[in-house]
Amino acid sequence: MSKKLLIDLLKLRELNDIKMDGVFREGESFKVFKSIRELATFQYTCRKCENAPCINACPAEALEKDDDGIVTRAVNLCIRCKSCIVICPFGTMMNDLFEVKTSGYRFFDLNDEREMTEFAKAFPEDVVKIVEMEENPDEKIYQLNDKILVKELMWL
Ligand code: SF4
Ligand code: SF4
Repeated sequence: MSKKLLIDLLKLRELNDIKMDGVFREGESFKVFKSIRELATFQYTCRKCENAPCINACPAEALEKDDDGIVTRAVNLCIRCKSCIVICPFGTMMNDLFEVKTSGYRFFDLNDEREMTEFAKAFPEDVVKIVEMEENPDEKIYQLNDKILVKELMWL
């Protein structure tokens, strides 16, 4: 069984003023990334509206649904206008979801195994840890991708 990062998003939200984030970088720049929070929001909190208001409202055509009906954002197209955030009837997305926080922040590229380990070490063990386990919905633990498990409340 391969090692994965287990991130307890329920506890992570309770930590104040954390100037760190685990991200999946797209390209060389750390300004072009998706955070775990963004991926988890679209996968687990989003209601997956049939005629999605967020997609219709996006002036940059940066949002689309993938084959599983999950909304994804093209980071290179998004102009961070927040129209999608404002129009979502369920308040799914936090106001700062797509912000790039550069000042004093440290980003860990979770495609890199060494940075993944450092990311786990940077947090209390009950918030982020390295595990060898599979998803377990009974414990609210869901697989985000082949490297990440998150503990999160899922909209059903
Ligand atoms: S409008 Fe909100 S709930 Fe509906 S698909 Fe978009 S993000 Fe999800
Ligand atoms: S922030 Fe604006 S540009 Fe970016 S995905 Fe949302 S609506 Fe589109």
